[in-house]
Amino acid sequence: MNPALKAAQDALKKHWGYDSFFELQEKAVELILDGRDCTVVLPTGGGKSICYQAPALVLPGFALVISPLISLMKDQVDGLTECGVASAALTSASSSSEKIEIRSAIRENRLKLLYVSPERIASNGFIDFLRSERATISFIAVDEAHCVSAWGHDFRPEYRQLGVLREAFPGVAMGAYTATATEHVREDINVQLRLKNPETVIGSFDRANLIYSVARRGNIIEQVRSVIDTHKDESGIIYCIRRTDVDDMVIRLKGLGYSVAPYHAGMTADQRKKSQDDFVKEKVDIVIATIAFGMGIDKSNVRYVIHAAGPKSLENYQQESGRAGRDGLPADCKLFYSGSDYGLWKSIITGSEDVASETSLEKLNEIYNYMTGVDCRHRYISSYFGQALEQKSCDACDVCLGELASVEDSLVLSQKILSCVVRINERFGADYTASVLLGSKDKRILANNHNSLSVYGLLKGYTKQVVRGWIENLVSQGFLARVGEYAVLQVTADGRKVLKGNVTPALLQPEKKTGKTPRPRSVKGVSGDYDDPLFQSLRILRREIAEEKSLPPFVVFHDTALMEMASIKPRSIEELADVKGVGKAKLERYGERFLAAIREHPGLQT
Ligand code: ADP
Repeated sequence: MNPALKAAQDALKKHWGYDSFFELQEKAVELILDGRDCTVVLPTGGGKSICYQAPALVLPGFALVISPLISLMKDQVDGLTECGVASAALTSASSSSEKIEIRSAIRENRLKLLYVSPERIASNGFIDFLRSERATISFIAVDEAHCVSAWGHDFRPEYRQLGVLREAFPGVAMGAYTATATEHVREDINVQLRLKNPETVIGSFDRANLIYSVARRGNIIEQVRSVIDTHKDESGIIYCIRRTDVDDMVIRLKGLGYSVAPYHAGMTADQRKKSQDDFVKEKVDIVIATIAFGMGIDKSNVRYVIHAAGPKSLENYQQESGRAGRDGLPADCKLFYSGSDYGLWKSIITGSEDVASETSLEKLNEIYNYMTGVDCRHRYISSYFGQALEQKSCDACDVCLGELASVEDSLVLSQKILSCVVRINERFGADYTASVLLGSKDKRILANNHNSLSVYGLLKGYTKQVVRGWIENLVSQGFLARVGEYAVLQVTADGRKVLKGNVTPALLQPEKKTGKTPRPRSVKGVSGDYDDPLFQSLRILRREIAEEKSLPPFVVFHDTALMEMASIKPRSIEELADVKGVGKAKLERYGERFLAAIREHPGLQT
C-alpha cells in the first residue's frame, strides 16, 4: 500500500477510532495525497469531512478549508479537537487573541487544518498574510462546494471568488466537496474553482437508511404527531414553507407538550442561534423551521425530517430530508403535501427576480411528480440525480413497503374522474372537478348547472382528500394534464386510452398502514443488537459531558459509538478502544467514565 495512505489510515484509527476508510473515501484521500485536484460528491453522511481531514494529518503544513458557515466551522473544529487534531477557524467571530494564537500556530507549524470563510479569502490581505507567514498549505479543501453554483440550492456569491486561490497557490492541490449531485453543478464547480484536470469521485446518492413516504396533507397536526410520537426523546426537524406556518405549529405542538423550537428568517440572529444551539445540544427535541434552517447543522442523529408542505425542488428535498440519519442508522422522511403548496411556491418563484425562474418552475413540477407518483421513492430520487438503483425493491419507502396499495377498481374510478373532466369541458381545475364528483352544492357548481351532469356525485362517499389524491395520481402518470395559468385539467391522449378501457392507471389508497416494519437495507456502523436501556444511560452520560464542555453531544460520541458500546459492553480500556468511533484522545478523556457507566448498568454488575 502507498505509505502515505497507510499513514492516513493509521491516523483514522488513532484519531477517529475507525478501522478503515469507506471505499470512496479512500479514493478521495489518495487523490489529495497524490497532489491531484478532485471533486468529491458524496451524499450526506457519506463521510466527506474525513476525506480532507485524514490527509491533512499526514501531509506537511496545514490544509486550508473553506466552509460557508461559522456554525459549521465551529462544530468541525470542536469535533477535531475532541479527536486530538490541531485545528482552528478564522472567522469574523474570532477574537484578537484567537487570531494571535492562530498566527503563532501557523508560524510554529502546529496546525493541521485551518477553516476560513469565503469572504476572508476574497478580502484584501488574507492571501498576503499567508504568504508573509510562509505558511505551508498542504492542500485546499472547498467544503459545500455547490455554493459556487447558481444552479445549486445554496448559491453564495463569495464562493465565486475562490478561483483566486488557484492563482495564489498554483502548485497546491485543491479538493471540492459536496453532496449535490447534478451534473450542471459539478461542471460549475470545476470551472469556477479552476480545478486542473480534476478527478471526480461520485458516490451512490441513494440513502438506504432513509425511509421515505409521502401523503396528502389532511389534519397536519395529527399527521405530524403520528410521526413524532414514534420518536420519543429523539431529534427531528419539521419544515414549513412560511414563517407563519412555523409559528402556528410551534404554538400548537408546544400546547400539546412537545419540546419544540422555531427557526425562520423573521427571528433575530440571537433567537435563531438559541433555537439551533438548543437543538444541537439536545435541549429541545424538535426544530420547526423554514428552509432557512439546516445548512449549519452537522448533527448526526436526527431521526426524522417531516415536511409539513411540499418542498420547492427535489434538490431541496434531498438536502432537507438528507439531514436525517447522517449516522447511517434508520431515519424517517415524511412528506405531507397539498396542491396549494404548488401554487404557493409558484407565486413565490414567479414573484421573485430570480433569473433562473423557468428552471425553478421545472424543478417544482419534478417534485410534484415525485409526490404524486407511484414509483419507488429511492428509485425516483436516484434517477433524478442520474443514477440507477439496482435493487428491485428498496424496502424503505411507502411504495415498496406496500403502504400505498393501489385501489382495486382503479380503472372504473379513473374513468369516472376523466369523464367528469370531459363533461365539464376541460375548463376547470382539480378542486372544482373533485367537488363535482363529490356532489358538492357549491354555488359555482349550481350556477354552471353542473349538478345536472351524469358525473355529478359519482364519487360520493369518498373524501375530497382521497379524490384530489387520485386526480394527482392521474396527472403524475400522464393521463391528465394541468394547463395554463389556472391549472385547468385536460385529458391527454393516454387519458383517452383509459376512457376506452385500454390502459389502467394506478390510483393509490392514501395512508394505508400495513404494519410492515421498514427494513433499511444497510445500517453501517453498528454490529449486532444493542441493549437499549444501557444505550439510554450512555446518552445521559454523554449529555452530562457535553454540558460540562459546552459541546454538542454528538461531538463527544456519535450515537453509533454508544450503540456499539451498548452492544459489546466493554469491560476494560482495551476493549473500549476496539469500539468503532473511539479514538485515542476520547479514550483517554472519557474512557473511564463510560466504562464505569457500563459496569454500573443493572444486570451487568459482577
Ligand atoms: P458528511 O459530511 O458527508 O455528511 P460526515 O463526515 O458527517 O459525512 O460523516 C458521516 C458519519 O460517518 C459520521 O458519523 C462519521 O463519523 C462517520 N464516518 C466517516 N468516515 C467513517 C469511516 N471510515 N468509518 C466509520 N465511520 C465513518
